[in-house]
Amino acid sequence: MATSKTANTYNRQNWEDAEFPILCQTCLGDNPYIRMTKEKYGKECKICSRPFTVFRWCPGARMRFKKTEVCQTCSRMKNVCQTCLLDLEYGLPIQVRDTALRIKDDLPRSEVNKEYYIQNMDNEMGKLDATTPAGSLGKTQAASDMLMKLARTTPYYKRNRPHICSFWVKGECRRGEECPYRHEKPTDPDDPLADQNIKDRYYGVNDPVAEKLMRRASAMPKLDSPEDKSITTLYIGNLGERITEKDLRDHFYQYGEIRSVSLVPRQQCAFIQFTQRSSAELAAERTFNKLILGGRRMTIKWGKSQGKQTASGSSGAASEHEAAEKLEPVPGLPAALPMPPSDLQDNFFNIGQSEMAPLPPPPFIPPPLLLPPPMPRPPSGLRPPGPPPASFFFPPHMRLPPGMRPPPMFAPQPPPPPPLAPPLPPDAAIHLPSQDPSRLGTAQKTT
Ligand SMILES: [Zn+2]
Ligand SMILES: [Zn+2]
Ligand SMILES: [Zn+2]
Repeated sequence: MATSKTANTYNRQNWEDAEFPILCQTCLGDNPYIRMTKEKYGKECKICSRPFTVFRWCPGARMRFKKTEVCQTCSRMKNVCQTCLLDLEYGLPIQVRDTALRIKDDLPRSEVNKEYYIQNMDNEMGKLDATTPAGSLGKTQAASDMLMKLARTTPYYKRNRPHICSFWVKGECRRGEECPYRHEKPTDPDDPLADQNIKDRYYGVNDPVAEKLMRRASAMPKLDSPEDKSITTLYIGNLGERITEKDLRDHFYQYGEIRSVSLVPRQQCAFIQFTQRSSAELAAERTFNKLILGGRRMTIKWGKSQGKQTASGSSGAASEHEAAEKLEPVPGLPAALPMPPSDLQDNFFNIGQSEMAPLPPPPFIPPPLLLPPPMPRPPSGLRPPGPPPASFFFPPHMRLPPGMRPPPMFAPQPPPPPPLAPPLPPDAAIHLPSQDPSRLGTAQKTT
């Protein structure tokens, strides 16, 4: 509306000059490095007809350009996105939200009243923080079951796709692959969803999308309580990685006393056991299909009774439950075992200190591949031969450079006994099995 910029100076101090648009995640797109153009007083708002600052951007590859359609006053009065007019918190049409929250809108429709009303709202909102919803929504706090059932938890980028090519529909598009519009069959023109209108959506009347969503909410399944009254456990699935046991307790304590919360991080699920059956029933009713934690919608199921679990264990929930019960002790495990006290560190066989004292430290047992070929035991009283050269133990490619000691795991031999040790009869000598090849059955014992 180019003329209004020059000719319409009436109430011009109320025109909006924003630095950033109010948008939902879907309209913004998935590109974090988005670029926008800004045009001060570029168009008139489709609701209040006052000039406002228009932003324009492309919300991602192969998406259509989008722009803001209503001014920020109108957007904030309803807490909606300036482009798609869906609620900023739940991603739902205003009609759905206002029906769910029982908001009675008092927005006037006649031109003069509307202008006066919006001017007042503007003043009121000037005192508010820019992120607070204004209007009648700002005065309600209650979340409703229907909203939680229908709320979108992830952006729906498909909504940003180009429009359908009208030439292609008539069989006349000659741009082929290069056509920026979608070459797809349009939806049935009798489909009520094909007839959407920005004012109806804003005022929350005759919105076909809203009507469809509300029908869907009333047709959603319910969670039946199990007949076994001893079951007081609920299964919570789709937890994601960030939900902690405390988050679950913080949410579920409102339904009644909790006996236990067991989180199974690997399966991203948890089991909450209540002390009272009535609490579990209340929690199931309030959370089934409605609980959103950390931006994810939780899956709620009843736990299985102990008897059935072992008998059938067929359904998904039952086996998950079983798996979880087997896994339950795991979360408490430390990441690594603590080191033994330093005086026990060489005690491979966990022998008490008193038994240990006369024994030489048990040697490292080399892995089988590195075992030396069996050697005949030296006659008693003779010094056993010194360690064979390293090349005897290592394949040629593992030969160590001269002067370098082999790493402890390859240490070829225990140190020879001191020459002064009194000679022992062969059978009385202290041997650990690995030191004596004949005891391993690898060689004949020679006597
Ligand atoms: Zn407006
Ligand atoms: Zn939007
Ligand atoms: Zn085309």
